[in-house]
Amino acid sequence: MRVVLSVGRYFKKRFGGRVRKIPISLQGFTCPNIDGSLAKGGCIYCDNESFSPSLIKLDKISQVKMNFSLTTNPLLEKQLHQLEEQFYWHSEFHQRKFGVGKYMVYFQSYTNTYAPFDTLKALYDKALSFPNVVGLSIGTRIDCVEDRLLELLGEYVKNGKEIWLEYGIQSVYDKTLELTNRAHSIAGAKEMFEKTRAKGVKVCAHLIYGLPEESPEMMLHSLDCVLEWGINGIKIHPLYVVNGTRLAKLYKEGKYEPITMECFSDLIVESLQRIPADVVVQRISAGAHDDTLLAPKWCFDKNIQMRYLRDKLKAVGIEY
Ligand code: SF4
Repeated sequence: MRVVLSVGRYFKKRFGGRVRKIPISLQGFTCPNIDGSLAKGGCIYCDNESFSPSLIKLDKISQVKMNFSLTTNPLLEKQLHQLEEQFYWHSEFHQRKFGVGKYMVYFQSYTNTYAPFDTLKALYDKALSFPNVVGLSIGTRIDCVEDRLLELLGEYVKNGKEIWLEYGIQSVYDKTLELTNRAHSIAGAKEMFEKTRAKGVKVCAHLIYGLPEESPEMMLHSLDCVLEWGINGIKIHPLYVVNGTRLAKLYKEGKYEPITMECFSDLIVESLQRIPADVVVQRISAGAHDDTLLAPKWCFDKNIQMRYLRDKLKAVGIEY
């Protein structure tokens, strides 16, 4: 039986014990294809709350939004406070309940590098100062990482911290990126991966299977490309439709057909046979366990999904 390098196994090997990723969602963060600088409305499937379960409805009074040209950030004190509160709440819970003793701070919601440099530095410095934090994982897009930020992240690595940039790639097809309103092309992704790894920062690529008008062959081609460009980790998830998104409208109009569980699981089996043993497979499932989920219904329960996937993988000699 071939054992996949899951994130739990990787952390155990790397840090000698369990490490918990602590999800952080901060007020004021947004995305350049939501705020109008590149596009409006965001990706057609984006409902950040369903992708980030810990995202809470934050103070709506303030209209300040992060971007690269914001000269002063009146929200910084509040963001630092939220970071501290969320870190201690989660870490104490996981310590008490599961005996976890080490943490990686995961800046998860929206585009977490889309903010003034000083703001990012203040937030990352603070996160790394918390007790038993081994590093950071930062969710972003390939067009939102400035060179000076990579320098800073490289300095953290030199000081012994483990830093991951999680790039939302989703597909390597420009046509798909356009259809889904990603507001960037795939050009430059390979270079971005190389620049990131050159600083000692690890690259995790996110892919979505089941995007509109994509065949299984196209999805596997996206996987082959990111593997060829050089990644340290990967997250693959099925596209599911959340109420209130533009994808929901397409689905209701009969213009989008979600991926079936059988097709997705076959693709996962094939994918895990292609992914090298030293690439950390951080995720192979996704869903929304509430009434925001419109389709497909099999994405409602991640436990059932995982049991099904594990059985399929076992049948071909792979343990996840
Ligand atoms: S890039 Fe991410 S945060 Fe931005 S709109 Fe798309 S899914 Fe949402």
